[in-house]
Amino acid sequence: MSQGVSRPTNVVTVEKRPIPEPGQNEVLLQMNAVGICGSDVHYWQHGKLGDFLMRKPMVLGHEGSGTVVKVGAGVQHLKAGDRVAIEPAYPLHNDDFCKSGRYNLSPRMFCCATPPYDGHLCRYYAHNANYCFKLPECVSSEEGAFIEPLSVAIHACRRGRVKLGSKVLICGAGPIGLLNLLVAKATGAAQVVICDLSSSRLEKAKEVGADFTILVTKETPQELAQEVEKVLGCMPDSTIECTGAEFCVHTGIYSTLSGGTVLLVGHGPALVSVPLLNAAIREVDIRGMFRYCNTYPMAIAMLASKKVDVKPLITHRFPLDQAVEAFETTKKRLGIKVMLKCD
Ligand code: NAD
Ligand code: ZN
Repeated sequence: MSQGVSRPTNVVTVEKRPIPEPGQNEVLLQMNAVGICGSDVHYWQHGKLGDFLMRKPMVLGHEGSGTVVKVGAGVQHLKAGDRVAIEPAYPLHNDDFCKSGRYNLSPRMFCCATPPYDGHLCRYYAHNANYCFKLPECVSSEEGAFIEPLSVAIHACRRGRVKLGSKVLICGAGPIGLLNLLVAKATGAAQVVICDLSSSRLEKAKEVGADFTILVTKETPQELAQEVEKVLGCMPDSTIECTGAEFCVHTGIYSTLSGGTVLLVGHGPALVSVPLLNAAIREVDIRGMFRYCNTYPMAIAMLASKKVDVKPLITHRFPLDQAVEAFETTKKRLGIKVMLKCD
């Protein structure tokens, strides 16, 4: 039997479930490490996220790594004993989005821990082998679990046009903002300034390489934009918004250099007001993003070559049978990334 974390009504529990049998193109994994994401907490607390509504208990977790214990008959590239990072979301059809390389935009996706599909927080879990990526010896299973949110940051920096010499503003020093900081620096950004309401999160940002941090207190978005320009000595060419707060969307637009890019990673309310004219007449591109695509091989290469070090972001570790405590820790926003050890 394996154990899974599920949610009847607003409850997260650890329970017995049968070990799955891998299908033709699947691998059965003994799960190693699983990171907790804000969306896991959201499902636990609210039973829905955007249009995705939980109609039955769901196993949480979509930031995972595991060791192959059994392969389906059609699987050629993996064997028992291989450690892999799991890409949790993949298209169910080879549609035009897939053919053009943007499979994350496909309307019919499988995604772990997104209703109706179960997630990774189990001892044993079966997944599509094409979306399991072998980890080299030098990349730990915890780093493997970090590849999912790291992928969000890689995709964000690509969509946000961060490049060699860029000056970058990042709004929000949560896990996603901090990973964007690491990826922006690894991409060659000259200077990165990051802002947040939390001084402890900004401390972490400094520790992992932020050139400047700004603690947001009572300023208006325009005042904060002036502060950003003052610390950088110029306006940033890219802003990566990782809070979802309307305030930060405004700040991002006012801060960004004419002709630059504001990339919206954060999920806020469905309707927000934006200073659209300011962006329009200055040719500031406001871009969106959804998850990631084609990022796992690059993320593994970045971790293996030590161009990015995600380890300082792991602040808490729990065994799977203390999953409830782990979820409480994430809910209280203690530290940055909470990891569960499933083996
Ligand atoms: P988090 O909640 O841990 O971090 C958000 C940070 O923003 C916090 O540190 C908070 O203090 C800060 N913040 C909030 N309001 C602020 C304000 N007014 N000014 C300055 N800072 C402010 O979340 P996370 O896990 O880092 O994720 C960040 C966002 O990215 C979330 O909205 C999440 O839903 C979203 N996300 C989007 C995608 C995507 O595909 N677009 C993928 C993953 C996560
Ligand atoms: Zn997530």
